[in-house]
Amino acid sequence: MTSYNGLPVPEDGAKITIDSNGNLNVPNNPIIPFIEGDGTGPDIWKASSRVFDAAVEKAYNGARRVVWYEIFAGEKAYTKFGEWLPNDSVEAIKEFCVAIKGPLTTPVGGGIRSLNVTLRQVLDLYACVRPVRYFDGVPAPVKHPEKLDVIIFRENTEDVYAGIEFSAGSEKVQKVLSLLSEMGYNVRQDSGIGIKPISITGSKRLVRRAINYAIAQGKNRVTLVHKGNIMKFTEGAFRDWGYQLAKEEFADTVVTEDDVYTKHDGRIPEGKVMINDRIADSMFQQVLIRPDEYQILATPNLNGDYLSDACAAQVGGLGLAPGANIGDIAAIFEATHGTAPKYADKDVINPGSVILSGVMMFEHMDWQEVSRLIINGVTKTIQQKRVTYDLERQMQGATKLKTSEFADAIIENM
Ligand code: NAP
Repeated sequence: MTSYNGLPVPEDGAKITIDSNGNLNVPNNPIIPFIEGDGTGPDIWKASSRVFDAAVEKAYNGARRVVWYEIFAGEKAYTKFGEWLPNDSVEAIKEFCVAIKGPLTTPVGGGIRSLNVTLRQVLDLYACVRPVRYFDGVPAPVKHPEKLDVIIFRENTEDVYAGIEFSAGSEKVQKVLSLLSEMGYNVRQDSGIGIKPISITGSKRLVRRAINYAIAQGKNRVTLVHKGNIMKFTEGAFRDWGYQLAKEEFADTVVTEDDVYTKHDGRIPEGKVMINDRIADSMFQQVLIRPDEYQILATPNLNGDYLSDACAAQVGGLGLAPGANIGDIAAIFEATHGTAPKYADKDVINPGSVILSGVMMFEHMDWQEVSRLIINGVTKTIQQKRVTYDLERQMQGATKLKTSEFADAIIENM
């Protein structure tokens, strides 16, 4: 197509494509669709896109450039087109493979549960990826927040989150209860019921992505986090299928924790990735007690939901937490916080979550130099205690910056 939502596709850019092995081919002038976001979204996007452009320019001196292309969702889409999520926006993301978005208002009523959930479902973005790292100077509740540096790969399409639920007393729940009774399970008749599907397909593609990421980013530990001691055929199966996939597809690279201790004196051999597993409740202790023993955590949906926020809180809260939803045909990088509408258009909000989502996006595109420059800029700026209001109110002796000034400082510090 030559236009989406009535906006012509920029002529000075080219498409990112994905080959049959799932590898991205990124031209030097990729067209990247962006959704500005609602509420504080415009302030955040203005600041973030300046940081991105400055980092690309500094890294490649004009040889590479992002061609931004606006697409619409949320309130802006509703005002312009009378739709919360126009089909053209979804099609543009499919066409250009990589997109970035600010926070979106969840429509109240009107048939859409959440725009974010809808995007994940229609584009089959099955991996929710949440890196958690500490920035020196950010107030955190533990003594050594810097010891936690993990990337959580949370399965995004299955588990009790699949939305198959029957309310107590409904006609449907009665059918489920009688089927269960036929099978010999006596469940209280006044129960509501939710179903927890976890498949071989869903588990293996998630673990595959986590292992591939470990290899690409030079990490050497992948941990399967599950509650398989109790839920054997769902969570336990996730663990088993994870190990099976590692053996089937990564036999040359992956070693199990057992192998490391029985054959390699407790050391992970050079160039190898160790796969192990932890029961979810134990994992919550491990990230507090032995955080530096973990790098990549792959987990079913519900564990991943809890674990991502707990880890983010451990390093100083959600304000700076980035995220991505990645599938085989597209990836969307996004803020993990909401639209914070009371701060809209005041130029005060912290743009860190979208800026760090951009870092993930450039890593995904293998523009590693850009990611490193942005991380340098953010790290130095926070070390200098030049921060937005949300961090300033928790830091002794900090200087409060506006959203736009925080972006300026990051650019200056790259
Ligand atoms: P929220 O927008 O995340 O805001 C809650 C509070 O968190 C804000 O008042 C602010 O706290 C703090 N905060 C959030 N983002 C911040 C940032 N970038 N910098 C500094 N502080 C930040 O949550 P909400 O008020 O529950 O939700 C508002 C709307 O956003 C709803 O429509 C919700 O459905 C939607 N939402 C969207 C997403 C998404 O698109 N990914 C995610 C969650 C919620 P202080 O007031 O203490 O400063």
